[in-house]
Amino acid sequence: MKEKTWCPLGSRCGGCDYANLPYSIELKLKRDYLKKLFFYIDVPEVIPCRSVEHYRDKVQAVIGERNGRIVSGLYIKGTHHVIELRGCRLEFEGASSILASVRSLMKSFSLAPYDEDRRTGDLRHVLLRHAHNRNEVMVTLVFGTDRFRRKKEFACALVQKHPEVKTVAWQLNDEKTSMVLSDNDIRILYGDGYIEDEICTLHFRITPSSFFQINRSQTEVLYETAMRMAGLRGKERVLDAYSGTGTIALIASGKAGRVIAVEENSAAVEIAKENARLNGIENVDFVSADASLFCKEAAKKGVKFDAAFLDPPRSGCDERFLSSLIKMGPEKIVYISCNPETQARDIRYLKNFGSYYVRRIQGVDMFPRTSHVESVALLTKAPENDEAGRSFAGKGKHRDDRERKYGRKR
Ligand code: SAH
Repeated sequence: MKEKTWCPLGSRCGGCDYANLPYSIELKLKRDYLKKLFFYIDVPEVIPCRSVEHYRDKVQAVIGERNGRIVSGLYIKGTHHVIELRGCRLEFEGASSILASVRSLMKSFSLAPYDEDRRTGDLRHVLLRHAHNRNEVMVTLVFGTDRFRRKKEFACALVQKHPEVKTVAWQLNDEKTSMVLSDNDIRILYGDGYIEDEICTLHFRITPSSFFQINRSQTEVLYETAMRMAGLRGKERVLDAYSGTGTIALIASGKAGRVIAVEENSAAVEIAKENARLNGIENVDFVSADASLFCKEAAKKGVKFDAAFLDPPRSGCDERFLSSLIKMGPEKIVYISCNPETQARDIRYLKNFGSYYVRRIQGVDMFPRTSHVESVALLTKAPENDEAGRSFAGKGKHRDDRERKYGRKR
């Protein structure tokens, strides 16, 4: 059934590319997109999201002013003009009511929205993180100036209105930037400074600045898909590259001998170690380093892995990382990607320079209503005469033509 008015903002916000399409068509478009990129293998249907609304557990609101009224919303794509958003159908339920309370408390505490051009005012952004399982919320108030003295009082008033808010933090961001958070310290006004969620029966700590998948319930589906593909048996040496707060490494640890997790953001690594302690896991080593540099050194020393999980940012992996990975020779590579185009590029490299072949591709819909789709690929090394590997790598004789067209080597 065609929905005509998914959102009163229409296309002005730029968030919901597929707002007015039936979900089944959206899933088909996402699958078609993957089919084009991975034309040489059968691409199954994209795993749908259980809920196409209220799945976002992270909400970032800009505070602005309109006709003398305090509003919260977001920047119009590519500009610094704020459009008012009174409730978004993608955000977790309860987010808009917390934001409404922040706006009304701003009035009671005589706070003004921060004006970026004049560098006046107070509150600039509000960042909400939601722990799905426990329905706990963490609020980070980002100020553009540091003149407000009653921050703790403000935090307590907010908690009184919303008992689900377990932590309130604040940060000063007076830089000319569209980034929500700056590099300044984050101070805690109320609570422990983190909230906890559960994924695949493990507990994870979420702090204001740490990366955590936005759609908590579908994350479980994503990680289960990755684990199934890896098919670990209990003894393997496993690499988790781009490990964030250690989610994949810790989930894999129950089925592996030892896991090495590499992440460049040292704050995320500290949380990952805390997460390991929280779950009583001792067979994971966390390394705070650039994945390419770490792997280059490890490969030089002759380090080997049986399996590797890769979960890089949108830009994908660089060639230094991929060439070192090939040297470390994992039998299986499970590549999770939020940008299938860079994933396809990196897979081409692994095939051309390491003889790794794609055995499976699985799309997982983490972001309904948007054009984004997460893709998980299983690659294994194909022995010289492995017909299965060859046919998975490219369908029959058309492979060579296609490779000529799309390029064999970069
Ligand atoms: N696997 C994690 C995080 C994935 S997001 C999860 O599922 O939650 C990608 C992560 O890669 C981010 O934490 C980012 O800080 C990290 N990263 C980006 N470039 C990196 C690099 N060159 N070396 C190591 N980590 C990097």
